Amino acid sequence: MRDTLPLLDKIPFPVVRRGTLDTLQINVGYRCNQSCYHCHVNAGPNRTEEMAGDIADTVLEFTKRRGITTLDITGGAPELNAHFRRMVVDARKLGVKVMDRCNLTILEQPGQEDLAEFLAAHQVEVVASMPCYLQDNVERQRGKGVFDGSIRGLKKLNARGYGRDPALVLNLVYNPQGPALPPAQGALEADYRRVLGELYGIVFNKLFVLANMPIQRFGSALVTKGEFDGYLQLLQDAHLDANLDTVMCRNLISVDWRGFVYDCDFNQMLDLPLMRGKRKHVHLADLIDDDLEGMPVRVAGHCYGCTAGQGSSCGGALKEAAE
Ligand code: SF4
Ligand code: SF4
Repeated sequence: MRDTLPLLDKIPFPVVRRGTLDTLQINVGYRCNQSCYHCHVNAGPNRTEEMAGDIADTVLEFTKRRGITTLDITGGAPELNAHFRRMVVDARKLGVKVMDRCNLTILEQPGQEDLAEFLAAHQVEVVASMPCYLQDNVERQRGKGVFDGSIRGLKKLNARGYGRDPALVLNLVYNPQGPALPPAQGALEADYRRVLGELYGIVFNKLFVLANMPIQRFGSALVTKGEFDGYLQLLQDAHLDANLDTVMCRNLISVDWRGFVYDCDFNQMLDLPLMRGKRKHVHLADLIDDDLEGMPVRVAGHCYGCTAGQGSSCGGALKEAAE
């Protein structure tokens, strides 16, 4: 796979400084039951990297001591981590909002039959990948059988009250098939609601529209096909300064399966660690009493994926470019 960091590092990006830390995004490992083409963590069934119990303990300690209000759990398929459920239970006891980045097909994997019930019982917010409401498009990106499995997963969540009960939030995530900006979030959300509702009886709360990041498997494919420069130019042309105030790295840190810290999940995948003094890698345990407010974020060309008018943050499209 081609490393895109040397190319991204050559592209200047405005300075971004950290605000108040309120969210911990933790990547609990790269094991996944799927191997999607666009996957920015290059996850799959054969990956063995996994957050151990002592690191999960540090995450919970940090959450408690630093008054973190949101724990955003991602992977791989995060539910496959042996400590996933205890982290959810303990964080919820602290009154912390917990988000599960769920791929939907995990809900019917062996050993996960009670997952929907568990998530509902602890009022975990589910953020589910659903890159299209059309079967062909989903399966081209995520593999054969994934569309039907995802629909069954959504139905399971709906049956537990997700998308209907105000305490059980189910948000979907869309990303384009290739090197294009996603369409406007509002119009696409209306289409999703109509098609998934009429054909399958599925309800959900919001649709997040995310641009594909030019890193890992997707970035490497762009380089191989000679599309990297064109895609980066597209992102840069759509950049809006106003979006710099709301990029997720201002209020979040991302923690890898070993406990090392990054400014966001994308930087984690590029192996661009958070800067603190002369240390090459900073561990979460070292930051428990450290205030990062005002510190600069490590930025490079991929950050235009966050600030493009119809670009991504992990909460969906920021401000859209005026048409
Ligand atoms: S389901 Fe998510 S984590 Fe798993 S391979 Fe696909 S994009 Fe990657
Ligand atoms: S890619 Fe990461 S560091 Fe860059 S703007 Fe987005 S969230 Fe911030």
